[in-house]
Amino acid sequence: MQIVIIGAGVIGLATAWRTAAGGAAVTLVDPAPASGASSVAAGMLTPVSELTYGEEPLLRLGLASRDRYGAFVAELEELTGLETGYRTDGIIEVAFDSDDLRHLDDLRRFQEDLGIPAEALTGRECRRLEPMLAPGVRGGLLAPEDGSVDPRRLTPALLAACDRLGVRLVRRRAERVVVEDDAAAGVGLDDGTVIRADRVLLAAGPWSGDIGGLPPGTVPPVRPVKGQVIRLRTRAPFLRRSTRGLVRGSSVYLVPRADGEIVLGATQEELGFDTRVTAGGLWELLRDARELLPGITELEFAEVTAGLRPGSPDNAPVMGPTALPGLLVGTGHFRNGILLTPVSADILSAMLLDGPVPEVAGPFAPDRFSPEVSA
Ligand code: FAD
Repeated sequence: MQIVIIGAGVIGLATAWRTAAGGAAVTLVDPAPASGASSVAAGMLTPVSELTYGEEPLLRLGLASRDRYGAFVAELEELTGLETGYRTDGIIEVAFDSDDLRHLDDLRRFQEDLGIPAEALTGRECRRLEPMLAPGVRGGLLAPEDGSVDPRRLTPALLAACDRLGVRLVRRRAERVVVEDDAAAGVGLDDGTVIRADRVLLAAGPWSGDIGGLPPGTVPPVRPVKGQVIRLRTRAPFLRRSTRGLVRGSSVYLVPRADGEIVLGATQEELGFDTRVTAGGLWELLRDARELLPGITELEFAEVTAGLRPGSPDNAPVMGPTALPGLLVGTGHFRNGILLTPVSADILSAMLLDGPVPEVAGPFAPDRFSPEVSA
């Protein structure tokens, strides 16, 4: 079985690894592997803290992926000898004022209704866990099973795993899907060459709609949602675990790494394919972070970047076969692509290899956007 995967972000890379491990010959096409959202992301693994009303299927998918993470990174690290910065020290979510605290209380009740334990914390308990928090912090929630991974370590490890398993990496832009006898038969590259395939997976993040050669409507619409992040550095201990905050209704988070890096994010902006870093975006992040952690102004500034999250019309992933036989999509992971990497790779590789597909995949089929299903 010859498989071509377009896009080497976390989703394409992890799926290539698992599909090659399943015995297929895999070619991965990307002019700049791991250069998209996967290189910008903070890497929080938090199906619970980011819970939103009406997103229960996504919650189940996120929980399945979080529970799979430990084994996934253990296998990856053992195969490649590379570390991924995986941590399971929980995530604390704190409230700045009483309105923010009311919002966290609502969230906790919603989680409890779904059978997910959430530990409510007083302001003092928050500061006991994270001594650098401002004295005014009103209270919070602890999600003890959440954690983080460093996407800038995860993607090199995935690339190395692909290499170990004989995945062919072609550093070119895919221009079109080659269609023969009403089925996908390969991928045409920007240098004019064609790679033939039995199946093609389109996993090009927010660029997934740019691939030519396809009948209109084959690929569900995916839009870019910009996020700006700041990377800071500290030599002295500053944060013990990932910390999310609500500050007068706006959301900010800080994710510490073992090497002293702290990722502060992230804005959410609908501005098309715009990756400019703006003074206003950075100001908002620093303003809110300083309210929660006044000592942040002492940290060393390291980097600012902006990335584009791939968002589908309902902001949930789109994974599975399209109306064109032989063409599958794996995109739309929006704010959760790093969290959802293990389960997405399991789902997409099972689909590519005709294996048993995990049940949690059900609600994320591409045909939910087709006119007949929507009607
Ligand atoms: P991408 O990583 O964008 O990869 C797409 C790849 O496709 C790129 O390498 C690109 O070069 C390639 N490509 C594009 N066009 C073509 C073409 N024509 N031919 C070949 N290749 C092509 N998720 C979490 O779970 N936790 C977080 O804490 C988190 N924080 C985030 C913070 C920010 C600021 C942002 C922007 C995102 C964050 N995310 C987070 C979301 C996560 O980063 C994304 O959901 C995930 O990276 C999407 O991965 P992907 O592989 O689909 O896309």
